[in-house]
Amino acid sequence: MRPAERRIGYGVKGNPLDAHGLRALENCDPPPDPARVLAERRAAEPTPLLAGGGDTSFKVRIWGARGSVPVSGSEFRRYGGNTPCVEMRCGGRTLLFDAGTGIRPAGVSMLRSGVRDVHLFFSHFHYDHVLGLPFFAPLYDPSIRLEIWSGHLAGIMSTREMLRGLMRAPWFPVEISICRAAVVSRDFRSGDVINPWPEVTVRTGSLNHPGGCIGYRVEYGGRAVAFICDTEHVEGAPDANVLALIENADLVIYDAAYTDEEMKSRRGFGHSSWQEGVRLCRAAGAKKLALFHHDPFRTDIELARIEARAKEAFPGAFAARDGQSLTFQARQAAKKQV
Ligand SMILES: [Zn+2]
Ligand SMILES: [Zn+2]
Repeated sequence: MRPAERRIGYGVKGNPLDAHGLRALENCDPPPDPARVLAERRAAEPTPLLAGGGDTSFKVRIWGARGSVPVSGSEFRRYGGNTPCVEMRCGGRTLLFDAGTGIRPAGVSMLRSGVRDVHLFFSHFHYDHVLGLPFFAPLYDPSIRLEIWSGHLAGIMSTREMLRGLMRAPWFPVEISICRAAVVSRDFRSGDVINPWPEVTVRTGSLNHPGGCIGYRVEYGGRAVAFICDTEHVEGAPDANVLALIENADLVIYDAAYTDEEMKSRRGFGHSSWQEGVRLCRAAGAKKLALFHHDPFRTDIELARIEARAKEAFPGAFAARDGQSLTFQARQAAKKQV
C-alpha cells in the first residue's frame, strides 16, 4: 500500500483547479487567458485516446544517455554523447524528462511531428540536466504550450526562479522571457502524484543525490516506466523510494554511471552502479532495465562489455543509446482520474 498521496492535476476532485485544470501552486506563472486555454483543451479532446482508435502505445525515446558532461568522438559513436533527456509519448501525449543536450534533437523531432503541448519534468538542475534547454526549439515557437515542472527544491527555490537563473547574462545572451511559446512553470513536492492529462499519471519520489533529485514513474494504459536519475545507493540497503517507483515497471531507466567495483572510490558522488540497478529490478519485479547516465570516460567498447555483463545477470538489461526507442502496447483502457 502506498502512503496517503497528494494529487495534482487534471480532473482530480477536491483540488482547487485553475484555468488549466491544474492545481494552482505558489510561485506559478499567472495562468494564461482562460478562454484561450478552454479553446485549446477542446481542440485537444478529439485526439483519439485509449478508448477509441488511434495510437494507444506508450513510446519511450532516449535522446541523451550520457551523464555529467556531453562527449563526442569516434569512441562514443555507438552509445552517444548527449546528456540526459528522455521523451515519453503516451498515446497522443508528450512528456519530457530533463533538458540535457539531448533535448535539442528532441525539440527538432517534436516540431516535425506536430507536437504542440508538452510537459517537461526536471529531476534536478545540475548542468548536465539543463544545458540543452536554451537550445530547445519549441521554446521559441508561438504555437507551443510548455509546462515545466520541478520539485527537488520545494520550499527553497521555485521552478520559475531556477529557469530565470539559467537563462540570463552572463551565462546566456537572452532571458527566458523572450520565448514565444506559452511557458508555465509548475512546482510540486516529492511524493505528489501529478495528472498532466486525465489518462496519464506521474508519481514522484526523492532520490539520494547532492542538492536533491526527483525520481519519476509514469503510468499509462496499464504500463509503467520509471526515470531514476541521478541517485546513489547505500550498499546492502535497497532504496525504498526507488523500489516503490519501479515496482513491476515495464522499463526502469536507472543511473548506472559506475560499476560496483568503482563505487568504492566514488562514494558521495551521487551515482549508482549497473549491478544495483539489476538488484533493484529483481527485487521490484521490473521487466527491463536501461543503464543510463553513462560516465563521460566510458567508451563504446567499455559500455558494450558492461552491457553484456548486465544482460547475463538480468536478461532485460541494456545500455541506453542516444536515439533509441522502445514501444509498449497499452494493456487496458485508460481510466480517468476521479
Ligand atoms: Zn547528472
Ligand atoms: Zn546531478
